[in-house]
Amino acid sequence: MPKRADCRLCGSRKLTLFLDLGKTPLAGHFPTKEELGNEKFYPLEVFFCENCTSVQVLESIPAEILFKDYRYLSSVSKTLAEHFTAYAKEVYNRFIPKGGFVVEFGCNDGVLLKPFKDLGATALGIEPAENVAKIARGRGLEIMNDFFSESLVEKIAKEYGKADVIAGNNVYAHIDDMDGVTKGIKKLLAKNGVFVFEVHYVASIILGLQYDMIYHEHMMYHSIHALKTFLEKHGLEIFDAKKVPIHGGSIRVFSCHRGEREIESRVKELLAFEHENDLDSINGYVKFASRVKEHKKNMVAKLRELKSSGKRIAGYGMSGRANTMLNYWGTGKDIIDFGIDASPERFGRFVPGLHIPIKPPGNLEGIDVVVLLAWTYKKEIMEKEWEFAKRGRFLVPFPEPHLEP
Ligand SMILES: [Zn+2]
Repeated sequence: MPKRADCRLCGSRKLTLFLDLGKTPLAGHFPTKEELGNEKFYPLEVFFCENCTSVQVLESIPAEILFKDYRYLSSVSKTLAEHFTAYAKEVYNRFIPKGGFVVEFGCNDGVLLKPFKDLGATALGIEPAENVAKIARGRGLEIMNDFFSESLVEKIAKEYGKADVIAGNNVYAHIDDMDGVTKGIKKLLAKNGVFVFEVHYVASIILGLQYDMIYHEHMMYHSIHALKTFLEKHGLEIFDAKKVPIHGGSIRVFSCHRGEREIESRVKELLAFEHENDLDSINGYVKFASRVKEHKKNMVAKLRELKSSGKRIAGYGMSGRANTMLNYWGTGKDIIDFGIDASPERFGRFVPGLHIPIKPPGNLEGIDVVVLLAWTYKKEIMEKEWEFAKRGRFLVPFPEPHLEP
């Protein structure tokens, strides 16, 4: 896999390694039985850019590998579906004129696009994963099965005109060619248009010790500080931003052509918050790295203790994030019998590298302890598995490993 020598946002080569999570396979590919043993392992290292303060993994995963066959459906989670419905309402009421045009790149199964359409917008989704695009079309949405690029933008503008809103959720951190995509956004956006996106917030990772958010596919870990400089380079400007609780702490960022809108005070407040927490210097990240090592030690000790006392253990929520944690902890089939995940796209597949089998929910017979790998969905999972909760216990990894109830 090619590894970059320069920062994706500013091109600087002054990149400092601050966290090494060891060699792991790509977290987003769940091998089938026939594919087991063919996984390739890559170093999972995180760097800080001394020039623009951005945080990133330098391995460049070709978009074809990342998104052509995608095993994650947003609408599977009720929490996510509700989140995106409210999100569409906010954006629609603030920025979309009657019958206005919304484009979403990386629209997944249409979890945001569908509510936009229902509200009355002309909605177009760009989704590179063929299997996911098909599902979105099945919901009555207009989808282009393609990558968002400068050339695609020309095609869209010709057919539909410029966009009142361009949205991108949890994709703006998964892009290697940030410059190319952002040039496309700049071109497609109407004069008074808004580019709105949600990404996981680097502050949540650092302050909340969420190192499970780090995997190769998640190439960028965004701060307002670094994004501001980057978007300005492209003639865009952040005019509003706010923290949103989804995925354990994301940010919703609103940007426009430079000088087109008044800048809300919330932008300044977030910049100050990042500075106060040392997120615009290497110091905050070095401190984080030593806390991560300590957490791994505690988690592995807890799992071994449970196992040696005869407990049968299953994992819950077998996402890319689970794969990072399990591979970093070195926790395989010797500790965890199997994993549970709600996404049918993953049933019958395995955790890459460790080969733990994945089953659908409702399969917890004989299990004493469930490791809550999808800890950001704690409430939802505990409600769903209420029968298990009556007799078994959940091992919650964060903030410190502990058993519930
Ligand atoms: Zn940089």
